[in-house]
Amino acid sequence: MNSTFSLDDAIRKIPDFPKPGILFYDITGILVNPEAFRFCIDRMVEIYKDRKIDAIAAIESRGFIFAAPFAERMGIPLILIRKKGKLPGKTWACKYALEYGTAEIEVHQTDVKSGERILVMDDLIATGGTLNAAKNVLEQGGAEVAGFFGVVGLPFLNYQKVLGDAEVTTLIEYQ
Ligand code: IMP
Repeated sequence: MNSTFSLDDAIRKIPDFPKPGILFYDITGILVNPEAFRFCIDRMVEIYKDRKIDAIAAIESRGFIFAAPFAERMGIPLILIRKKGKLPGKTWACKYALEYGTAEIEVHQTDVKSGERILVMDDLIATGGTLNAAKNVLEQGGAEVAGFFGVVGLPFLNYQKVLGDAEVTTLIEYQ
């Protein structure tokens, strides 16, 4: 089986969503395909099992879906990075520009341990703005970003430039 091909098949491409001219990559097709979903989690574990990663931080909401089974398999803490106003405790926060507007994300201060090496993940990396904001909130807590992971990457939007020297890993890229 050519796994990359089957992952591509599982990702629906929706033209003109959420607005004209945007091609939206829909990962819900992975979630309804147990083989594709398992492939993603297995690959993530394979890539990171021998790396020194103390925790994984995931972006609301689709990042949570992939990060949760990964954290459980790796035996590492799962840190939730949420949209503003969702977390009840004291937070570190960062405002940032999105592909489609602006947003603000937060993380619980108590979930971020100073000196930890944290992998940051989302379902898809477009401009890299969201992951860069995630880096900002984790660094406010004294943690270090060990790398960035996206199931899907859109490198033509130049996310590597925004994310600097950090290692960015994706399972599939579209041009
Ligand atoms: P960035 O901040 O520009 O990298 O955008 C990434 C964020 O927008 C992620 O949280 C994605 O879930 C979301 N996003 C942007 N484009 C798409 C897409 O084509 N499919 C799914 N999510 C997308």
